[in-house]
Amino acid sequence: MRPSLHEIFQKTYRELRPRAPMPQFRVEFYPFANVNNTIRLRDSKIHARISDLLEGAPGNVLEAIAHILLAKVYHRPVEAAHASRFRRYVASKDIRAKTHLVRQMRGSKRMQSPRGLFYDLEQIFDELNVRFFHGLVGRPPMTWSQDRSRRSLAHYDPAHNTIVVSRIFDHARVPRYVVEYIVYHEMLHLRHPVKLRGSRRCVHGPEFQAEEKLFPELEKAKAFLRRL
Ligand SMILES: [Zn+2]
Repeated sequence: MRPSLHEIFQKTYRELRPRAPMPQFRVEFYPFANVNNTIRLRDSKIHARISDLLEGAPGNVLEAIAHILLAKVYHRPVEAAHASRFRRYVASKDIRAKTHLVRQMRGSKRMQSPRGLFYDLEQIFDELNVRFFHGLVGRPPMTWSQDRSRRSLAHYDPAHNTIVVSRIFDHARVPRYVVEYIVYHEMLHLRHPVKLRGSRRCVHGPEFQAEEKLFPELEKAKAFLRRL
């Protein structure tokens, strides 16, 4: 039977750190727009995301990725054999073709614009940045959603590092302070990062809530959103 990603990471960890205690692993395939792999160590928990483009990769390629990521997080040198195996695989014709296709599909969000018919998200972000944050918040790309979803007012899309705001708010009947409030809320998420759960990071701790109260039209905006 084929070992799971989880088993591959545990085995590779043992090779790299024979005597250290085994951390908790959360390892998953993730739909990045690219052959992208990320790893993070926090509170002795490892969270790794492997591009789902590599889902069908042979075991030794997955081992190579595990080795490279774990070496990176524990500041160990990457073995040349692993590095070249991974490079060769990503450069193979098959994977290049798949990557190209997926990038076209998933990357299409980048073609969208922060400028809607009524509101320009990036302009609103920049104004709020000056008004509330001394211009200190780094602005990720922003875009109006493709569909007119009511399920999510706005969210952060880590695969594209983009803030997506539902297009229903790009409308003359929506007051500017409502769009400002939605963007302000997302800015607070940038300032108070939390662990990602899937693509959501909607956790509102006490500091977050205190800072949210500094938005003057908070209650009016919330009342508007409740009436939607
Ligand atoms: Zn939130």
